[in-house]
Amino acid sequence: MTSPLDPRTAAVRAGLETDPSTGAVVPPLHLSSTYTFPAFGEKGPYDYSRSGNPTRDLLAAALADLESGAGAVVTGSGMAAIALVGQLLPRGSRLIAPHDCYGGSFRLFSAWQRRGDLQVEFLDFGAPGALEAALSKPAALVWIETPGNPLLRITDIAATVALARAAGALVAVDNTFLSPVLQQPLSFGADMVVHSTTKYLNGHSDVVGGAVIAATPERHTELAWWANATGVTGSAFDSYMVLRGIRTLHARMAIHESNAGALAAWLEGQRGVRRVLYPGLRSHPGHALARAQQKGFGAIITLELEGGGDAVRRFLEAVKLFSLAESLGGVESLVAHPSTMTHAAMTPEARAAAGLSDGLLRLSVGIEALPDLQRDLAAGLAALS
Ligand SMILES: *Cc1c(COP(=O)(O)O)cnc(C)c1O
Repeated sequence: MTSPLDPRTAAVRAGLETDPSTGAVVPPLHLSSTYTFPAFGEKGPYDYSRSGNPTRDLLAAALADLESGAGAVVTGSGMAAIALVGQLLPRGSRLIAPHDCYGGSFRLFSAWQRRGDLQVEFLDFGAPGALEAALSKPAALVWIETPGNPLLRITDIAATVALARAAGALVAVDNTFLSPVLQQPLSFGADMVVHSTTKYLNGHSDVVGGAVIAATPERHTELAWWANATGVTGSAFDSYMVLRGIRTLHARMAIHESNAGALAAWLEGQRGVRRVLYPGLRSHPGHALARAQQKGFGAIITLELEGGGDAVRRFLEAVKLFSLAESLGGVESLVAHPSTMTHAAMTPEARAAAGLSDGLLRLSVGIEALPDLQRDLAAGLAALS
């Protein structure tokens, strides 16, 4: 499915000029839930939109192309994509996941564990020998999130795949934070890539959606079967919006990233900031690995303020451009407080174990003008003293 075109061209041109009935340059939005049979006993390419929809199929093809996969299944949310991967796992089998994974993934995996559906082990992927020990026994799936959320810990995908293979485990990578522009996990041997298309792929904070991209046609067929059986496929309208979003993905990522790199470097020297976590900084423990494995460092910055929750409140009251909101990856800048927002589903103990202190803030750096963003953060820091 890999296109011979440069990915920047393929993303812009995905699905253009594919409607011979009108000659429309931009593909139409197909809202019909059902499709006529050409004749009795004869099936056309589509019959019912849960199972297949032309608009959703164009998006799936574009996503598979971006990740260099065999095929993609488009789902109604990122969590639906994650739940879909779970359908592949035999009951009672082992799932290994990072202890600082996305809060929603942590909640879902924990619920599967409590109900006895799966044996889930949350690990510190960065602890020397932890993965090796966990994968010395058979497992069904290793879940990777890199960079991790919100500490931006970097996991070596190729090394993890090698360990997982020896344990007979599949590897799925949540690639939401970087998008296929900055990281392509299938090229390191992963079996599946998961996206919350809510974030960079749509990029405008007006869709909730997800996708699973499979490395092989067989896995894609299996995922598509489960998506239809469980009904988690995404809507035509949302698919239309995300397809529109990815036409500007490369252009957006370039600005997101240059803004974030500049702000991270500037923040590192500021009073009131205990530490800045950004994989593009030399001070980041995963910097060398990120440089080797990624095509860029992304646009999420996590900073820890001196003074904990109190400082956080003052900072948040002073910033104007960074909107206080969950989510990330939109053109607009956002700031979130992980311990009360994105990671509130974790117990205080689990947060402490994962190193999520009350002084942490996660910035999703948008594509606004850099001087405005820097002035806004400076106002937040000035309110601390
Ligand atoms: C947002 C997010 C999800 C969940 O996606 P939804 O679209 O909100 O269901 C999963 N993983 C990561 C890393 C995310 O940021």
